[in-house]
Amino acid sequence: MKNFSHKGAEAHRKPPGRTFASSFAPLRLCGRNLFLTFLILICFSVSLAQKPARAHAMSAEAKALLEDAIGVVCTQAKLDPKSSIAIDEMQARPSLPLHSPEARTGAERAQRLLPIAKELVVASLRQLSTEYNFQSSRSFTLRLRRAIDRVNSVQRVRPDMDSRDNASVYLSRPHVITFGTIFLAGLRSDEGMISVLAHELMHIADGDNDSLRALVGAVGNKASDLTGLDIHGQRGEEVACDLIGAMAARAYIVSTPGYESIARRLARSIQHNCVELDEGDEDHLSPRNTIRALLALNPGLVRELINDRF
Ligand SMILES: [Zn+2]
Repeated sequence: MKNFSHKGAEAHRKPPGRTFASSFAPLRLCGRNLFLTFLILICFSVSLAQKPARAHAMSAEAKALLEDAIGVVCTQAKLDPKSSIAIDEMQARPSLPLHSPEARTGAERAQRLLPIAKELVVASLRQLSTEYNFQSSRSFTLRLRRAIDRVNSVQRVRPDMDSRDNASVYLSRPHVITFGTIFLAGLRSDEGMISVLAHELMHIADGDNDSLRALVGAVGNKASDLTGLDIHGQRGEEVACDLIGAMAARAYIVSTPGYESIARRLARSIQHNCVELDEGDEDHLSPRNTIRALLALNPGLVRELINDRF
């Protein structure tokens, strides 16, 4: 399937994730002493002890709440006149010329919101780095500073008819976010647009050397542990970008109070994933599993969606 947003193919690189084989290397070593069962058990426990602290899988109760919150997001997709169109529905639409009123409205919205999206991404990145305990690492702090410089240097959104329902950054042109006209028209709210702009800005922050790979990997590992889904490598990066997108949109909502319900506005930041045809690929979770991973990482969002649904 086509992906709703991604790094340009020329820049696709996978951060080196922890592998099954390397995690269990001590166990394989011990296998040479099979007759000493106790030694195998000791080595196995050493192997487990060497792993970094991991999150626990979600409880049945938390999973049920999460599914309720998805219900709110995707019900709002049908009720809200400014809801974001689902990716599969966008894919089925004919290409939209640059000068069509919907594409122009979307392009103006994206360009107008780019400066605030940049600010919100920087704040969200700092917040996430602290939440994942990277604030005391000097090397990470240096990488983060450069990442923030890259975000601040983005200048414009380039509408592109051929990109259809995709948004992309080509890291050879790091000052530009390329945005398909169908996608520009399908994100009918500021909240939806900020979420996707922030997603692309996070790719730019990570840059062509995956310089935030430690943070991105930690987010992916946590999402995997919580959901039981495989969220490593490029999938981890995509989920981290979506998480920054949801955080940026939430911060925008808090800073611009209005008459609409918080739940309705929050839903706009993720509801392009409310698809009927729920397919993923090697680099992306399926859209509905993307919502699951995001909400698992962000239980505050689950509470706000459920408590403020009316
Ligand atoms: Zn992406």
